[in-house]
Amino acid sequence: MQCSKCGNPKVIYKREQSGQLLCKDCFIESIEKKVIKTVKKENLLDKGDKVLVALSGGKDSVTTLEILNTFRERNIIDICAVTVDEGIANYRQEGVDIAVRHAERLGIEHNVVSLKEEYGISLDEIMQRDNHKGSCTYCGVFRRTIINKAAREMHATKIATGHNLDDEVQAIMMNYLEGNMNNLGKLGAKTESQAEEFTVKIKPLREIPEREIGLYVVAKDLEVHFDSCPYAMQSFRGEVSEVINQLTQKHPTIKYSTLRGYDKMKPVMEKEFKKDYAHGRCERCGEPASNQLCKACSFLEELGV
Ligand code: SF4
Ligand SMILES: [Zn+2]
Ligand SMILES: [Zn+2]
Repeated sequence: MQCSKCGNPKVIYKREQSGQLLCKDCFIESIEKKVIKTVKKENLLDKGDKVLVALSGGKDSVTTLEILNTFRERNIIDICAVTVDEGIANYRQEGVDIAVRHAERLGIEHNVVSLKEEYGISLDEIMQRDNHKGSCTYCGVFRRTIINKAAREMHATKIATGHNLDDEVQAIMMNYLEGNMNNLGKLGAKTESQAEEFTVKIKPLREIPEREIGLYVVAKDLEVHFDSCPYAMQSFRGEVSEVINQLTQKHPTIKYSTLRGYDKMKPVMEKEFKKDYAHGRCERCGEPASNQLCKACSFLEELGV
């Protein structure tokens, strides 16, 4: 066995979908090149952008930061980061500490914002009061609101998230299975909202499978928080992920074909469903909203906060 690219006998990875064998250096290079290719193909960055990385300290966000930093080193963009502390006992703090260390190592502007400080309630406390919506619904809405606000406060022109191929395919399938066509139309490598207050979101890792990101951080010896969230398995996303991974064992290219199919459908869906974007303002907090209250504030009202 030898590396398909350079002939090095120390192979660390076999790419199932292509049969390619890779040594450590060629593997690292292949990931970085693929991310750069996505950035160029999807037009994710413009010279002079200030990109806010949503940095949880997990493998995906640390990889996003690491690869985007190569653009910063070449003076193409500036980078800042925000870490959301949802308030999940025995889980989140380690990720926050790791995020702080990466931001210090690279010398970038970094804020940590906690749900408790921002809204007066932590995710654990929310789950003690009401869990009929599921933790990830609350978590996603509050986190999104905090990141959008941080982007405005830090004058960022783009928000980069660590969504990988698995995340994106799960989101496509989940929205499809739930018949949620409005949300389905909003996925993709670059998400622009009609509301001016929302910063453009980009997903540079969208074409990298989750396991390759796991191997990338190990190969590059990057410090990351590997534990999974204690709430993760309760989610519909967890169930969908299991089914997709089972199918992938027999059909190794299925994640890519789902993604490519989605990208072909997206322009049609955007036309059909774009009316649902937020166009008003929340009466309680002033954030963009499609109803009287934004999603975060309507959850807070329901929870009596
Ligand atoms: S798994 Fe759900 S609850 Fe846990 S951090 Fe992710 S979105 Fe939040
Ligand atoms: Zn090699
Ligand atoms: Zn609000």
